[in-house]
Order: sequence, then structure tokens, then C-alpha cells
Amino acid sequence: MSSELEFLPVPATDLDRIRCNGHDDHGNQLVGFDSGAGAPLRCCLRMSTEGERIALVAYRPSPLGGPYAEVGPVFVHFSECSGYDGPDFPADFRERRAVLRPYDATGRMLDGVLAEPGTAPGELKRLFDDPAVELVHVRNVIAGCWNFSVRRA
Ligand SMILES: [Zn+2]
Repeated sequence: MSSELEFLPVPATDLDRIRCNGHDDHGNQLVGFDSGAGAPLRCCLRMSTEGERIALVAYRPSPLGGPYAEVGPVFVHFSECSGYDGPDFPADFRERRAVLRPYDATGRMLDGVLAEPGTAPGELKRLFDDPAVELVHVRNVIAGCWNFSVRRA
């Protein structure tokens, strides 16, 4: 397959709005706290380091909409950060087990995949071989929380 993939964190426009409002889009107050190491940050797609100021907010990561567009908790930096525009699968997420959930253009969920550590990039490429797949969520295995989205670049 020739098409490149794009890895999508929480968009900066959404983060700006949440930080400006002082609460997320679902009424939860934005409260900063000092992180321990290893909180998966959905603003810049890396693990937090000890003592970074972060917040936990509710976010709906599905621009496609529809009944499958769930809201869930995500860690983000409390203040503006560099974001993520890397063309590659985020390194800090590569060795984690992940659930890959593909969606079609209407936002309907198609068959998902459980990816073992290190296999998610290859599984993603395979999922996008199906032309019906518009977007894939990379999610945590146990809690199901969204980590980031992937689409064709
Ligand atoms: Zn960040």
C-alpha cells in the first residue's frame, strides 16, 4: 500500500478552547496537577515525565460523529505545548498493547484489532488496505481510552 498515514492528537484548536474556557466541552473544570512519569499525553503523543503540569479532561475524538463517537478521559498538558506533527507512529506508544478501532466514513465502527507491543504500525497499514476504513482510533486495551487517531495523509 502506498498511502502515507497521519497521526492525530487532540487538535490545537480544541486544546486552546478548553484552556481558554477553563473547562472541557462536557463541563469538567480544567484542573492542573503535577504528573508522575508515564501518563499518555494526547496533546503531543508522548508519555509525561515526572513533575510535568497536566490535566485530565473529557474529549470526543471522533470528527465523523454518529452514535459511535464516544466521549472519554484524556491526559493533556495544562498549558500550551508543542503538539504532534510527526509522520511516524508515536514512539512512546509503539511498545504498548493497543486496540485499533477502524471507522468508516459515516463513523460506524468496523472490526477492531488487538495489537501486541510493536505490532500496531503494521496492523494499521493492514487496516487501511480496506478502502472502507476512513479513520482508526488507537486505544488503551483495558480502559478503552482513546490515545490518538490515524487517517490517510
Ligand atoms: Zn502536550
